[in-house]
Amino acid sequence: MTTVTRFAPSPTGYLHVGNLRTALFNYLITRKAGGTFILRLDDTDPERSKQEYVDGIKQDLEWLGIEWDRVERQSERLERYEDAAQKLREIGRFYECFEAPTELDLKRKKQLNMGKPPVYDRAALDLSEAEKDALRAERGQGHWRFKLDHERIEWTDGILGDISIDAASVSDPVLIRGDGQFLYTLASVVDDTEMGVTNVVRGSDHVTNTATQIQIIRALGGDVPSFAHHSLLTGPQGEALSKRLGTLALRDLRERGVEPFALLSLMARLGSSQPVELCTSMDELVDGFDISNFGAAPTKFDEQDLFPLTARYLHGLPLEAVADDVAALGVPADKAEKFWSVVRENITVKGDMAGWWDLFQNGATAVVDDEDAEFIATALSMLPEPPYGDNTWATWTAEVKEATGRKGKGLFMPLRKAVTGQARGPEMADVMALLQTKPTV
Ligand code: GLU
Repeated sequence: MTTVTRFAPSPTGYLHVGNLRTALFNYLITRKAGGTFILRLDDTDPERSKQEYVDGIKQDLEWLGIEWDRVERQSERLERYEDAAQKLREIGRFYECFEAPTELDLKRKKQLNMGKPPVYDRAALDLSEAEKDALRAERGQGHWRFKLDHERIEWTDGILGDISIDAASVSDPVLIRGDGQFLYTLASVVDDTEMGVTNVVRGSDHVTNTATQIQIIRALGGDVPSFAHHSLLTGPQGEALSKRLGTLALRDLRERGVEPFALLSLMARLGSSQPVELCTSMDELVDGFDISNFGAAPTKFDEQDLFPLTARYLHGLPLEAVADDVAALGVPADKAEKFWSVVRENITVKGDMAGWWDLFQNGATAVVDDEDAEFIATALSMLPEPPYGDNTWATWTAEVKEATGRKGKGLFMPLRKAVTGQARGPEMADVMALLQTKPTV
């Protein structure tokens, strides 16, 4: 059986790191097994779903190199869901309810007060046809619930292991709202069944859904796929990330200079027993991925970890990979190779290149300690005007050493700080070779 997976975001917002985990796991499983990876847009909510987010989701996946084989939109499949609903009605597993949200709320509160689980009491099952007609006339169409069989629902989860949920502890799920909108639980099952999805990988917030969905799949005569629920991400201290996810949108990380392979490498390993390793190709990620290495415990995510990985990724890149970015800064073609080899080890994100190019072109604001003021004045008076070359630094520092008697760190460090305005950076011989303005204080 070929593997079929799907990544099923609702286009009601942009993708964030939590969604990425789901997308990546499904993608890697499929690429490893050689199957079909479907991008499914769960857009049955016409008010909250926006084309802007559909486009945004695709852009973000493309940026990461996560390629889908096919796109499906739930809004285009409504008649399939209607057929399924009809089938559930015919087999007596679907019933109409009329409680208003406030009534349901009240029922739940009463149950909780009595120490009972807040499970829907199925009062609507006792309504006669005449009572339903009266309620419909008064309140409009009802909402529809799937009647669960009260038995234990069991599956072996690809991450969580053996799961057993008592269906009696779960409310009969609402599958159609009063306004006729199909809800995710039904739409997802119909799609998974009809599209031959073999592996469902999603966040552990869906475990209860899975229990009810297994019964719905069986009721509709479909094949139950295998399920794996990955843990949810928390912040570095274990705090819930849900409120901050808005600021961890993939496009924001991209904006901040995070490189795709930094993000993919971290996400492919975080929460697993394997160490995080920087991968620089999708093949490497695919080869190293094994979902059985992931654990059930919440996974701590610290966005700061993305920056050292980004820096390491950039250090390893040849000029060809960044030629456009280098050219866009205005670096002339004959200096590009030298420029990139000099700066790549001194940047965290690509955007840092601009600062170095500015320095090479226009010089830095010199940093001169009081005790070095005279020394620097002497040294600078011995430096000719540009152009400089590969030997400028060696020649200059030899002459300054001769004239001032300084050597070692006492010679080089004040010069570095005067020329670059900082205590660390590329080899000074390279800096001088690229410098186009004579340093001043
Ligand atoms: N649209 C659902 C979500 O984003 C999909 C869940 C699933 O993978 O079934 O949570």
